[in-house]
Amino acid sequence: MVHVTHRSAFRGLSLALGAVLAVGAVAVGAPASAAGRPAPPAPSTSTGFGGAVSSVDAEASAIGLEVLRKGGNAADAAVATAAALGVTEPYSAGIGGGGYFVYFDAATGEVTTIDGRETAPAEMQSDAFIDPATGLPYPFAAAVSSGLSVGVPGTLATWEAALDEFGTESLKEMLKPSILLATRGFRVDETFAAQTAANQARFAAFPATAELFLPNGAPPEVGSTFTNPDLATTLREIAVHGTDRFYEGALADEIAAIVQDPETDPAATLPAFPGFMTPDDLADYEVLFQDPTRIEYRGLDVYGMAPSSSGGTTVGESLNILENYDLAAEEVPQALHLYLEATAHAFADRNAYVGDPAFVDVPTATLLSQDFADARACVIDPDAASVKPVAPAPLDAAGCVTAAAEVDVDTENISTTHLSVVDQWGNAVAYTLTIEQTGGSGMTVPGRGFLLNNELTDFNFVPNPADPNIVEPGKRPRSSMSPTIVLDGGDVRFVVGSPGGSTIITTVTQVLMNRIDLGMTLPEAVAAPRASQRNTANVSAEQAFLDAYASELTPYGHRFGNPAEIGAVAAIEVDADGLMTAAAEPVRRGGGTGLVVQPAP
Ligand code: GLU
Repeated sequence: MVHVTHRSAFRGLSLALGAVLAVGAVAVGAPASAAGRPAPPAPSTSTGFGGAVSSVDAEASAIGLEVLRKGGNAADAAVATAAALGVTEPYSAGIGGGGYFVYFDAATGEVTTIDGRETAPAEMQSDAFIDPATGLPYPFAAAVSSGLSVGVPGTLATWEAALDEFGTESLKEMLKPSILLATRGFRVDETFAAQTAANQARFAAFPATAELFLPNGAPPEVGSTFTNPDLATTLREIAVHGTDRFYEGALADEIAAIVQDPETDPAATLPAFPGFMTPDDLADYEVLFQDPTRIEYRGLDVYGMAPSSSGGTTVGESLNILENYDLAAEEVPQALHLYLEATAHAFADRNAYVGDPAFVDVPTATLLSQDFADARACVIDPDAASVKPVAPAPLDAAGCVTAAAEVDVDTENISTTHLSVVDQWGNAVAYTLTIEQTGGSGMTVPGRGFLLNNELTDFNFVPNPADPNIVEPGKRPRSSMSPTIVLDGGDVRFVVGSPGGSTIITTVTQVLMNRIDLGMTLPEAVAAPRASQRNTANVSAEQAFLDAYASELTPYGHRFGNPAEIGAVAAIEVDADGLMTAAAEPVRRGGGTGLVVQPAP
């Protein structure tokens, strides 16, 4: 089931409300943390009752918790938290991007999803990333920082749809804390400073971005206060006038203008290719409501995001493959070997079959079927790693399936952010949102305080008609985002998600395996060292994973690439007694924040 919502169904707001949006009159306050104010508490894990929020950021989690404390539900808190992440994590998320929102309604027992993915403009053709001068694809790095890579943003439309369908609060109320936060500012931490420094050269190429994120020509200093008055003004306008302010009228014109004609510094060497977005593309943007993916794993119901994300089908297929083994009874290296093999096979299938279902026939039911996964498990050798890449399985796979495969280049990036929320009624949200690469396209809408995404680089550039993920006008690029809700007997048990490009899929799978099969608590499952096998010759792994397991996994034939940090999980568990554990990262990305309304004594 897919139904479309017109983003213009904004719940009535009158211009007179402008007065109450003056910063001093904000009812739901942001935690004070700018210079001279105490920073909000930032435990990575909290346990208790009454509602829980987990995200990568202390300010954002605190804002979401405040909404829950005041009686808002999970959808309300998720929108408020996401808006705050757009302020404090502007390189990962914000109104210039898109994402996927998964909602569990405890009263009906239903899981619903909102696909707020960015879309290709209506005038963008399949050869858009091919250089007409050479007939070859543009270099990936050059395509990233360009108008060409900017998809029509879906984030604001997602917030509006989530509140309309599931929430109890207005968008105006849920934006207020972020308006205040952008005005007062937040403390620059090591992660924000390092992300700015890593992007300094390309940010400097775009004057509007340099002005905002490189004050005095350099990244803001750790410990300084970063304010974004332009973003505060933009959010205030949207709060007062509704999302039409963004999707129609002056702001839409400004977005289309900068995409079509990126404004670069005369000294910049970036090609900054122009894009195709028009004001009509923004006016026509629609989110999609669709059924979640669902599989059963060890008696639990695992719900995820259906295509256009490959998250739900690929996490689902990986777990279905692992269902063939009694992992709890295995030694950890043996379980990890099976995990690496399961995800490699699932990635072969996602690369072959998953794209935007509005344009390609995606065999979602087959990819999620236990029979299909069993045919994959059948060729996995419990004692030896398969030669990568493995081939996709034919869709009528039965028995054992083996074949040769060609190599797929993985160009997805590692930005993005995820938040998890459970409220006092047991409703839950898993929401992953992104502007794609850290810093997105590098292009800020001048004077508006937010970056535009580079999501269209998630398409494959070569227009091979057999590839489900080539550019087409109006199409959504395939995603790996995997917001996941696990139910136990109809009640929410786990809410999980992560950033990390294509490693999102393996991270969510690994955290669930750690928790469900390997005897870890949720905080342990989140903190445990990670590895990611996405059907490539080398396994990506963290240094701690290599230290712990490389010597035991190498004899299987697994080969490891250079160590790198993987993911930044924000998760929640609710046990059978209703005790909630909000678990964010203790260390990765500078540590996240998990909060509960009523801490357990
Ligand atoms: N663009 C990626 C996706 O949709 C996410 C980017 C990331 O996590 O860094 O899958």
